[in-house]
Amino acid sequence: MKAIERWSILTCPECGHSEKMEMPTDACLWFHECSHCKMLLKPKPGDCCVFCSWGSVPCPPIQAGQGDCCQN
Ligand SMILES: [Zn+2]
Repeated sequence: MKAIERWSILTCPECGHSEKMEMPTDACLWFHECSHCKMLLKPKPGDCCVFCSWGSVPCPPIQAGQGDCCQN
């Protein structure tokens, strides 16, 4: 069984600040406010959540091969 990495390092595209965040396994995170510059991070077009766009590892559903965590 493949281990799912629950911790991701989110890097702010505005100021370069990075912070370690625990990802929820049963929900997606669309927005995250940078604790340094207060910019609201949003997913890039085509990405399902902020972790897939700005994190060091993709979100748990992607890691598990289940596809996007929040398809619309
Ligand atoms: Zn920032």
